[in-house]
Amino acid sequence: MKIIAIGRNYAAHIEELQNERPSSPVVFMKPDTALLKNGAPFYHPEFSKDIHHEVELVLKINKEGKYIKKEFAGKYYDEIGLGIDFTARDLQQTCKEKGLPWEIAKAFNGSAPIGDFLPVSDFPDLNNINFHLTINGTTKQKGNTSLLLFDFGVIIEYVSQFFTLKVGDLIYTGTPAGVGKVAIGDHLEGFIEGKKMLDVEVK
Ligand code: ZN
Repeated sequence: MKIIAIGRNYAAHIEELQNERPSSPVVFMKPDTALLKNGAPFYHPEFSKDIHHEVELVLKINKEGKYIKKEFAGKYYDEIGLGIDFTARDLQQTCKEKGLPWEIAKAFNGSAPIGDFLPVSDFPDLNNINFHLTINGTTKQKGNTSLLLFDFGVIIEYVSQFFTLKVGDLIYTGTPAGVGKVAIGDHLEGFIEGKKMLDVEVK
């Protein structure tokens, strides 16, 4: 399986990192070794002093396809979950300055914790899904899909022209504002519509 992730997909997050607003989705990938499942702890890597949390809604692909039109995108995922796109912001900054790829900053071991999923049928309106992240009980990030620059349909149409989507692939759809550094000992909990979906300890 593969993990496809979208960067710069919420305006307020673009502003907090002083990035440019993209005219098409910013896409990167993570390997399966990035996945962290079943509440496994995240071991803070030694190569970074600035690992950021980015809480994101995640689509689980249930049907193979390429060149999928956005009108039909809904036929290619049947579950929505919550994940963290851990980012070594210090390494990413160096990569950005040098115009280098982001893999070492984004795709390292354990950089993609994934929580539980809900069936798409649980959501009356995909353009109005609330989610949030707490650290040690304090809310750090809050998002709503009405604020996505590129919605789920547009994301799937765009990425599927380059990469065939396969059953089990995951798409991390971008993070809202409020990203920040995690420290050893932090307890991250993620929620969709107030329901707890994700639990990660930083060790
Ligand atoms: Zn992200």
